[in-house]
Amino acid sequence: MTAPSPAKPPETNKPSNFLRQVIEGDLTRGTYASRRWAGSPGDAAHHAAGEPDPAKIRTRFPPEPNGYLHIGHAKSICLNFGLARDYGGVCHMRFDDTNPEKEDTEYVNSILDAVRWLGFGWDANGTSHLFQASDYFGFMYRAAEYLIEAGHAYVDEQSAEDMRANRGDFGKPGVNSPFRSRTPAENLARFREMRDGLHADGSMVLRAKIDMASPNINMRDPAIYRIRRATHHNTGDTWCIYPMYTFAHPLEDALEQITHSICTLEFEDQRPFYDWVLLRLAEGGLLAQPLPQQYEFARLNLTYVITSKRKLAALVNEHKVNGWDDPRMPTIVGLRRRGYTPESLQLFAERIGVTKSDSWIDYSTLEGCLRETLDGSAARAMAVLDPVKLVLTNWDEVMGAGTLDPCSAPVHPHHPELGNRQFVIGKEVWIERNDFEETPPQGFFRLFPGNKVRLKYGYIIECTGASKDASGRVTEVHAKLIPDTKSGTPGSSSVKVKGVITWVSVHDGLSAEVRMYDRLFLDPQPDAGGKDYLESLNPDSLKIATAIVEPSLAKALPDAKFQFERHGYFVADRVDHAAGKPVFNFAVGLKDSFGK
Ligand code: ATP
Ligand code: MG
Repeated sequence: MTAPSPAKPPETNKPSNFLRQVIEGDLTRGTYASRRWAGSPGDAAHHAAGEPDPAKIRTRFPPEPNGYLHIGHAKSICLNFGLARDYGGVCHMRFDDTNPEKEDTEYVNSILDAVRWLGFGWDANGTSHLFQASDYFGFMYRAAEYLIEAGHAYVDEQSAEDMRANRGDFGKPGVNSPFRSRTPAENLARFREMRDGLHADGSMVLRAKIDMASPNINMRDPAIYRIRRATHHNTGDTWCIYPMYTFAHPLEDALEQITHSICTLEFEDQRPFYDWVLLRLAEGGLLAQPLPQQYEFARLNLTYVITSKRKLAALVNEHKVNGWDDPRMPTIVGLRRRGYTPESLQLFAERIGVTKSDSWIDYSTLEGCLRETLDGSAARAMAVLDPVKLVLTNWDEVMGAGTLDPCSAPVHPHHPELGNRQFVIGKEVWIERNDFEETPPQGFFRLFPGNKVRLKYGYIIECTGASKDASGRVTEVHAKLIPDTKSGTPGSSSVKVKGVITWVSVHDGLSAEVRMYDRLFLDPQPDAGGKDYLESLNPDSLKIATAIVEPSLAKALPDAKFQFERHGYFVADRVDHAAGKPVFNFAVGLKDSFGK
């Protein structure tokens, strides 16, 4: 016998967590070293004929194709695919489509797109690991017959009400069904009648025969097959009986030789049944040992966000948002359209880690990850979101009437190799309305009569006043240009100023639609404790502005990210942005001002 070789440390130096410790322990002990893999899912005999498994571990991401994926799924995807990547394993992409209702190919495609976009794939060791659980219906049926023959399952014909009443509750043991003592032969005959469509939907179920007095209610003879006449998107009308999720899931894992089956905490009480099913079938020689193990982690709860697919669907169906990919939605398509990148979501998943107890993650953590990943890459640009005209009253004297003076600025302050943006300054420029105050409040260093500021990348100017309309609203701000102060020219810093403002010239500025998004809900826990989340919808979650942006943005491609200097990060809308009709979405601010 040779001593087990120590587990190879993960390639990345990611922070450890309880799942990494479990996997490292299993690798050290060689728990799964003897497994074989036949190249496709299957029963014990199928895998026994295969090769030693080239994958050190197998994990899976098993969504039901009944909706769009959201930020909580992103956590699960990064976790399962990330662990497989880090430990020489394979992560299976599995559609959990055992429930015949609700599935849709629109969802299937969007889920595959989301996983790929996040940076993961299911091809490994020369094959695809994209599976659908409905392909295992044949095996699931055989497993059920085996359990019946071995005396571990029976057909129960009690009414639904009797079954519920006889299950007992937390302090009260259950009562055995009068059908519980039928012989395996009687049960088998009945189950085959169920399969052959001789009984009505809901008239009887197949139940595991475990213990009606178990302190864990999930072990009180749970149902494992029900009659349901429904056309399945994959198997059509082949079946009129379907397995229950709690029976199907462990079988899917075992057929796929999953080693670490990672799910959310609400399945903790199901683990004894998960183990029970797999052990019975392994005893019968149907499943290969060693068996998969289930581990539970806390699902993601994010403040100001709801992650129930049903509730997200309601927001779409009731037109509270403009579709699944509305940039305010926590769906992966929505986040993407908002400007989130795969790197930002991977960083988020890593930073929040995995724990065994439920908690709330602050929304600012997600925003921080986006800001951090965009800072180093997003091209800079100037944009004026709430424009008012500034007139340089001495321009004609100093510069000559009609003169346009070229200016330039780095595309990115830390990446000189990206080159410069070019634009001009002339007699009239757009500035932010709130950069002028007739009577400055304390600590205001921008434009007010008598004060000097720098027009960023341009000249120092001195404010002389403003004109207003009848209602007192400023229509034009006036200032004088101070000669010989152009940024980057010798002596330009001889005049000292406290304020620097951004601007775009009237001559070359482009008009653009800017969609200013804010949180969708005002309540940090919109649906906690059964609250009506629709009551806390933020009426100002979207404000559309017509901004003036610098000419370099004429070339912006859909999905390109920018830092609008002083304002934050914006993304050219993937759907509506086009040359000649620019549309930018607000992604995240420059600093954490959330809730402030
Ligand atoms: P819903 O109940 O809203 O339909 P779900 O959890 O049933 O969502 P599935 O399609 O079954 O959605 O989820 C696929 C995987 O994603 C599961 O393994 C599940 O544990 C994981 N998952 C779903 N929501 C979250 C979340 N908020 N945090 C972490 N993982 C999640
Ligand atoms: Mg589910």
